[in-house]
Amino acid sequence: MFVGHYAASLALKKYEKTASLGILFLAVQFVDIVFFPLVLLGVERLNVVENFTDATHFELIYMPYTHSLVASLAWAALAYALFRWVVVKSRRVAIVVAIAVASHWVLDLLVHTPDLPLWSDASPKLGLGLWNYAAATYVLEAALLLAGLWWYLRATRPTGAIGKWGMTAFVVVLLMINVVNLFGPLQGDSKVMLAATALLSYFLFAAVAFWLDTKRS
Ligand SMILES: [Zn+2]
Repeated sequence: MFVGHYAASLALKKYEKTASLGILFLAVQFVDIVFFPLVLLGVERLNVVENFTDATHFELIYMPYTHSLVASLAWAALAYALFRWVVVKSRRVAIVVAIAVASHWVLDLLVHTPDLPLWSDASPKLGLGLWNYAAATYVLEAALLLAGLWWYLRATRPTGAIGKWGMTAFVVVLLMINVVNLFGPLQGDSKVMLAATALLSYFLFAAVAFWLDTKRS
């Protein structure tokens, strides 16, 4: 899952308004932000395979350190500890950031083919396989993201024109990007390209979300 993960970021803002939306945008993609560098280092593995599913051009082979259920929970626990005792030092912020990190696995479960291990690579692997239906994946991610937006807009107030329309416009852009992501052809068959595009998107989207969030109170 790609843009649908941000539904969790937007919704969690309602539960702790002092949490940075930029941090929450990074937190929901945290395991992917670790995954792609590990792929480039050869620690975790994916293969670029054109039309591997209806919605993707890659096969996820080996990712126990980022995308197993146990690893996800461990990363969430680490995020909790970091925000509880090192930065920000708020219990409520630590809780929402940890939930954001853990939400990645839960939402990935809906769309991935069975490639998400429970603990190690030898453990059972789960995935409900919605990626086999690109249109259904699109509708699910769009519905999640719009629900998150609605939740966020109800929880915060604009402080000007950018605050009033900015986040809605950003969500529309994300929904357009996801058309290319889910229905577009394979763009260059290298892992480096895939990793670079993903990581650049994650940090760019987090920066935009952070900035737009400063326009609402
Ligand atoms: Zn992922």
